[in-house]
Amino acid sequence: MTQLAEAGFDELRTALTGTVLGPGEDGYDDARRLWNAQHDRRPAVIAQVRTAEDVSAAVRFGVAHGLEIAVRGGSHSMSGASSVDDGLMIDLSLMNQVTVDPEARRARVGGGALLGDVDAATQPYGLAVPAGMISHTGVGGLTLGGGMGWLTRKHGLSIDNVESVQIVTADGSILRAAEDENADLFWAVRGGGGNFGVVTEFEFRLHEAGPLVQYAMLFWGLDQGAEMLRMARELIPSMPRDINIVTACLNAPPAPFVPEEHHFKPGYALVIVGFGSPEQHAEALDKIRRLLPPLVEFATPMPYVAVQQLLDEANAWGRHNYDKGCYLEDLSDGAIEVITEYLPRKTSPLSVVLLYHLDGAYLEVDDDATAFSGGRTERYMVFPIAVCPAPEMLEAERAWVRSFWDALQPHALGRGAYVNGLADVDEDRLRASYGDKYDRLVELKRKYDPDNVFHRNQNIKP
Ligand code: FAD
Repeated sequence: MTQLAEAGFDELRTALTGTVLGPGEDGYDDARRLWNAQHDRRPAVIAQVRTAEDVSAAVRFGVAHGLEIAVRGGSHSMSGASSVDDGLMIDLSLMNQVTVDPEARRARVGGGALLGDVDAATQPYGLAVPAGMISHTGVGGLTLGGGMGWLTRKHGLSIDNVESVQIVTADGSILRAAEDENADLFWAVRGGGGNFGVVTEFEFRLHEAGPLVQYAMLFWGLDQGAEMLRMARELIPSMPRDINIVTACLNAPPAPFVPEEHHFKPGYALVIVGFGSPEQHAEALDKIRRLLPPLVEFATPMPYVAVQQLLDEANAWGRHNYDKGCYLEDLSDGAIEVITEYLPRKTSPLSVVLLYHLDGAYLEVDDDATAFSGGRTERYMVFPIAVCPAPEMLEAERAWVRSFWDALQPHALGRGAYVNGLADVDEDRLRASYGDKYDRLVELKRKYDPDNVFHRNQNIKP
């Protein structure tokens, strides 16, 4: 490695407009840090790229020197895929620029931007990219896997709103992929993850959202779980598309609106975001109160950017995390029984179970139109997520996630999952997740990355 450091890093430094960091240099430890503190990896070299040409030079350098390559977007992959021991980390975090054309309703977003960068640039025009719910997540990994958030019900997944990408492939070529150019590659990057190259820019279609939206969180106790989930099962699909509801099984926060006797107590919440009128939102809340009065509630209009940041702290950097998701066709009585049996068994107060309902605009995109790892039929995406403030807590909590997942399997929609919600991946699981699309993805992997240069991801082997 010393030899490489002496011979190679200068070559890389000369080739890049960005920064090259080796072990021991200022900034190296910050740059190698990942969101999931469970992964502590030490790359031989970090290339903090600024342009597509930098990315191309870094990829060529890594391949020429036989270095394993990791691509870092927002660094939120559960598995720590975006770093690598003794290899080359291509760090996209400086490529976070966002330019907005409000007339054409388009945004060009750097491959290393965070969701917060996009919201900050688009919201002054009252526009938004449908993306995820935590502002420090990377646009790159989130979009390449699919991207679901508050606007999915109204406007589809993030990939359903990508117009084109600029991408650096394994041989260092800089390509544009869109419906009218490299259409096969364009299909593959919309759901196929980072397998096909490094996306240096996404072009997104924008939609009106905010600046003010309606927010509410309603909370029920542990003993009301089954009743609440049965109520949610009827309620959620009946809501207008302007209203998106996520079911969260979690401990009540010690927030001012939560009476002290409920602080930190586990239970069941509906988090509700309304993009329509305040009256429509109030009507939805009234309906819920009539169906099953909550123990605690908090409702207020809020800027869209604030909603996007509201859960940032609950999902902060530096914790030890693990997840394993699956799809459910519905919240069947059997699935509800499993959820209510397993929730009280979690050992970390920060761990959560999220139930994300996919319908509305999600269903209007043809299943074959993208490589997304999930059929376009109505379904719930379920994520039991272990979140531990201390590393020694993770073993028990990981076992909890796995046993929870095992117990859900008889009620699951196949063995597949949303690939962005899997900490461990094996080929069988990926095959099950992509279904009929898997063979086509393998074929395209052979075409664009035959040597599997980009394998630190939900890897499709060529
Ligand atoms: P990284 O770890 O940097 O990247 C993830 C993978 O994508 C790696 O394999 C990396 O190499 C690759 N990659 C990243 N950028 C690029 C690029 N530009 N070109 C090529 N490859 C790239 N998902 C949702 O759909 N909705 C949510 O609301 C949501 N919320 C989340 C909240 C938290 C706190 C976390 C941890 C995850 C969340 N996710 C959500 C899942 C998220 O989509 C995935 O973890 C995703 O991989 C994160 O992307 P990233 O760029 O931050 O991560």
